[in-house]
Amino acid sequence: MRLILLGPPGAGKGTQAVVLSKEFGWVHISTGDILREAVDKGTNLGLEAKKYMKKGELVPDNIVSRMVVDRITHLPSSKGFVLDGYPRNEAQALNLENALAKLGIKIDMVIYLKTSPEVIISRLSGRRVCKKCGANYHMRNIPPKKEGMCDKCGGELIQREDDKEQTIRNRLRVYGEQTKKLLSHYEKEGLLKTVSGDLDVHRLFQELSVLFKEVRFT
Ligand code: AMP
Repeated sequence: MRLILLGPPGAGKGTQAVVLSKEFGWVHISTGDILREAVDKGTNLGLEAKKYMKKGELVPDNIVSRMVVDRITHLPSSKGFVLDGYPRNEAQALNLENALAKLGIKIDMVIYLKTSPEVIISRLSGRRVCKKCGANYHMRNIPPKKEGMCDKCGGELIQREDDKEQTIRNRLRVYGEQTKKLLSHYEKEGLLKTVSGDLDVHRLFQELSVLFKEVRFT
């Protein structure tokens, strides 16, 4: 399966992508994670990306598209993947299609996680991530065993710079502006399915599993 997960920040794309990749052996490609890693390492890409990410703005399309295409190109052609956080606009979607066409592969399904604003704000303001391994937690919904410490690697749990309230609002505004065209693009292509992003992780996984049964995938 070559899958795109669409949805505003806080819709649960990242959490669900991790579950799906574990369950089905697909590769999880998260542009947010790749960019944050570059920022932490202080690479040229990271320094450039940081300027935009701090404000909740989109990193320029050419930078992000190059990054994603590079990852996909290095996968075996039969390998399934889940794209999380990409594409974010129509230009990125077209870029992706061109790159996949060159590799002789196609997206099988696009899932839009439609999520209500109250759920988003509650999820994002409670979200904590491990500084060391990037694992996600939520103060109420997925608390770590020991406060402030990652269950997996013992790293420190922090609030993402862009999960602060003012930046959340900007990210949601930016997402809303870009998303309409993207949804109608995939609707036209006959690839779009909509599922409620308000569901908890387990229920959402069940709903998605039902959808996957309708599609033949690798
Ligand atoms: P996310 O973790 O997906 O919410 O992404 C965090 C931030 O990384 C976003 O607010 C953007 O600044 C940047 N970013 C992630 N994915 C993209 C993308 N596809 N295009 C442009 N910027 C992106």
